[in-house]
Amino acid sequence: MPTGQTPKDGKQNDTKMLIRFMLIALVVTSGLNIFLASASTRAVKQIKYSEFTTMLQEGKVGYVEIEDDRLLITEAADENDTDVNIYKTANRYYTGRVDDPNLKENLDKMGVEYDTPVDTSSPFLEFITTWVLPILLIYGVFSLFMRSFSKKMGGGPMAFGKNNAKIFAQKETGVTFDDVAGQEEAKESLTEIVDFLHNSEKYIKVGAKLPKGALLVGPPGTGKTLLAKAVAGEAKVPFYSLSGSDFVEMFVGVGASRVRDLFKQAVENAPCIVFIDEIDAIGKSRDNQVGSNDEREQTLNQLLSEMDGFDASKGVVILGATNRPEVLDKALLRPGRFDRRVIVDKPDLKGREQILAVHIKDVNLDCDVDLHHIALATSGGAGADLANIVNEAALRAVRLGRDMVNQSDFMEAVEVIVAGKEKKDRIMNEIERKIVAYHEVGHALATALQKNSQPVQKITIVPRTMGSLGYTMQMPEEERFLLSKEELLNQITTLVAGRAAEEVIFNTSTTGASNDIERATALARSMVTQYGMSSRFGMMGIESVQNKYLDGRNVATCAEVTSAAVDEEVLKIINGAYERAVVLLRENEEALHRIALFLIEKETITGEEFMEIFNNK
Ligand code: ADP
Ligand code: MG
Ligand code: ZN
Repeated sequence: MPTGQTPKDGKQNDTKMLIRFMLIALVVTSGLNIFLASASTRAVKQIKYSEFTTMLQEGKVGYVEIEDDRLLITEAADENDTDVNIYKTANRYYTGRVDDPNLKENLDKMGVEYDTPVDTSSPFLEFITTWVLPILLIYGVFSLFMRSFSKKMGGGPMAFGKNNAKIFAQKETGVTFDDVAGQEEAKESLTEIVDFLHNSEKYIKVGAKLPKGALLVGPPGTGKTLLAKAVAGEAKVPFYSLSGSDFVEMFVGVGASRVRDLFKQAVENAPCIVFIDEIDAIGKSRDNQVGSNDEREQTLNQLLSEMDGFDASKGVVILGATNRPEVLDKALLRPGRFDRRVIVDKPDLKGREQILAVHIKDVNLDCDVDLHHIALATSGGAGADLANIVNEAALRAVRLGRDMVNQSDFMEAVEVIVAGKEKKDRIMNEIERKIVAYHEVGHALATALQKNSQPVQKITIVPRTMGSLGYTMQMPEEERFLLSKEELLNQITTLVAGRAAEEVIFNTSTTGASNDIERATALARSMVTQYGMSSRFGMMGIESVQNKYLDGRNVATCAEVTSAAVDEEVLKIINGAYERAVVLLRENEEALHRIALFLIEKETITGEEFMEIFNNK
């Protein structure tokens, strides 16, 4: 990640803080020094020189330090003292140094020790210990305290109502449209924004109102964040980015002040791009029923008014990204705010191939790598998945001690992402292996018989970490966008054919079919409720899709009686498909045996091998 640049405002704040801190530390340290000095002098009492000579005569002097201008006298320990207080220290006195030539003689006579103190401390060292060290110490303690405090409070008391948002500012994002592959439509609608940031005069001259913001909408991992950076990179303007959740704090009002700060900074640094990632965190519709959130509403209101308030001709463009556009407040989407919507959808076959091409740029490739093939096998994958696959493949090559990544690395990486890692240590017993093999071949054979073409990429009965005991990797020869009723029925037949094989060969049913059942049921349900493919309900829509870009949950919009009838209809479809699968497999039982035995022996067979045995009647 390129290094962030501290915003101008933040820098000023920092220097102010530092000066304030230095003043405090200076005052504290001087106070400390004065206190220490006075404490050390308090212990030493001044006496007259004559008193000193009397003391000397009486033998009460224990030790004398002769300094340039004074004598420092330590009283002799009193032998008669019965007080056994170990804390008691000898009294110390000082007196002016009278020009007394007999001083040393008198001291010698009384047997008192004396000397002149040698000044060993250098002034530099003294300065360090009395000034620099305490200041550093105070600074250390202070900043530690502040850090733990601000962590607890999420911003800290000093940050309250102040700008301390983690605004991520980049002078140059270093990302261009070339780094974003397979999103041609999205790029096309964003090029205008780039142009507008570049030469806004052109637009102003014609009298065109400049767009204020665009909302990037699409499933996770399709490159929304990347696109926003690319817009900034193409326009060569600074990039201010904040995640929606950064605005939402514990204190009401903090988010709003962050919005204000963000826009202030942006206008000061125009032209630039302000990017609010995951904007649904603040942009949620305000009229939601339960648990309305004051802080979020205030933040949203601030955002709305800032978006209205700033002068777009300065060249500030606001980009937002979300994968839940339907929850956004309507006010946010009206013209003059996020008036443009750029759909960043999952890439198609060609797009996936292009994205792979972007990501393998720095990877050392073997000559057998076929991107088209990988793209075919990754139907439904988003850009982030593909980036992940490339990396997994490279890691596998390293693990196997190669310095080049080959096709098998890629295909294994695809499987790892789809089905999890191979679990070589899980040992299935003989009968389990047999059942799993027949189950998987049942799927494959059903496809082959219905389509008359190579149905699968690969079949394996090596267990995987994500729970599958064996699995059949389907491989579409081309990408399909429109499916007919017959094709859907064929798919359901293929899904239930695994169980059908268990039934036909072993006359048993196992738990291995649970995922097949789930998928077959979902497909059949969609046929009835969404695609209008049942004779009973015809074109009536019974379910609608929510969260289209996330998990795509279906919500029923019908009466309960209808629901029950839908279930009957779904059951009819599935049972019909199952019967067909049983018939298909019975008719081809011999082929089923041949392929399954081969699979049991080899553990993994490819699509070509499958076809060879299948045709070898
Ligand atoms: P989003 O914000 O849509 O969830 P990101 O932009 O954060 O997704 O994408 C995550 C990563 O996936 C990117 O850093 C990039 O490496 C990769 N990626 C996603 N889409 C693309 C694409 N269209 N072209 C190239 N790389 C992509
Ligand atoms: Mg993102
Ligand atoms: Zn199955």
